[in-house]
Amino acid sequence: MMTAPLPSTDGVRVAVRVRPFSQREKTSGSKCVISMHSRTTTTIQDPKNPEHRKTFTFDLAYWSHDGFQKDQDGVFISADPSSQFASQKDVFHDLGRGILDSAWQGYNATLLAYGQTGSGKSYSMVGFGANKGITPNVCEELFQAIEKQEGNEEYQVTFSMLEIYNEQIRDLLSRTKKPGGLKVREDQQLGFYVDGLKSVPCENYAQIERLMEQGTKIRTTASTNMNASSSRSHMVITIQFKQVFLDSDLTKQSSINLVDLAGSERQKSSGSEGDRLKEGSRVNLSLTSLGNVISALADAATGKRVLHVPYRDSVLTKLLQPALGGNSRTTLIAAISPADICYEETLSTLRYAESGI
Ligand code: ADP
Repeated sequence: MMTAPLPSTDGVRVAVRVRPFSQREKTSGSKCVISMHSRTTTTIQDPKNPEHRKTFTFDLAYWSHDGFQKDQDGVFISADPSSQFASQKDVFHDLGRGILDSAWQGYNATLLAYGQTGSGKSYSMVGFGANKGITPNVCEELFQAIEKQEGNEEYQVTFSMLEIYNEQIRDLLSRTKKPGGLKVREDQQLGFYVDGLKSVPCENYAQIERLMEQGTKIRTTASTNMNASSSRSHMVITIQFKQVFLDSDLTKQSSINLVDLAGSERQKSSGSEGDRLKEGSRVNLSLTSLGNVISALADAATGKRVLHVPYRDSVLTKLLQPALGGNSRTTLIAAISPADICYEETLSTLRYAESGI
């Protein structure tokens, strides 16, 4: 069996994507506090103190408004045509293709969407209707590429889909819910894995599309039954891709993790009692530990000595461990609203994303 050499870790790629104004933001007369002046810089302005601006530089910055707009001072809020408008295809081209390249080379890849509820995480990861997001595009292109192969190879693709809610794992491809959830176990060689998780072999994209629909339905029904919102859970889709080279008996294997994280907003102290408070602090626990892992990986990439990457601190970081750092490519999309009313949350999202740089 061939094992892929470890690439020098290039840390975490971070992209920020601002969504258009929502109808609610438009009708309430919200102002835009975000500007992007190149393909990499994002500036946020404090609506209470317009002099106060903070600029962040990430690997990529995606703008969503149609056409150029001017702010109240007559300044273009998108000055660079390249940041004028990013379609789903543009985002897939930049972020999804790299994931597929890694997979073909036998490396693992993880793509995570972070941001407050309503900021566009699902839109980027999954998409709505004809606006297919990164996950369906990755799956579709994977099968298209497999069909084009002419060598003496065999390909195996399996699909799994789970959610983590309150530090408990639920299989979204299984109708029966295991009390207490599925457990993460540790194997000396494989690292962490989810015991008993369904992993469905797929032969074409249509099959994956059906599984995603089924999983999404189970997720929505489950959260309605619990009187909770699916925005409080993390959704993890994993595609295992194995290439078997029949002439030589060599194999290459990789896993692609596509993660729609729970909303990053702070739980308001009023009205969130008991279970909701516990739930809120658990959501924050896994987002905080993910942030710590990402920032340790970013430090390692810049040559700092990192003694400990805290994977064990949450269920999410445990199960992503084989595909974060080391032999893998990690990408974080920070999803943000352009509106002044979201200023605090947007600033905190940008700060979180900064930990990956
Ligand atoms: P989240 O998953 O973060 O809760 P959603 O992805 O559901 O947020 O997005 C909230 C709303 O904003 C949806 O109606 C979605 O269609 C819209 N939206 C988000 N991002 C974009 C975008 N880049 N372009 C157009 N509409 C978007």
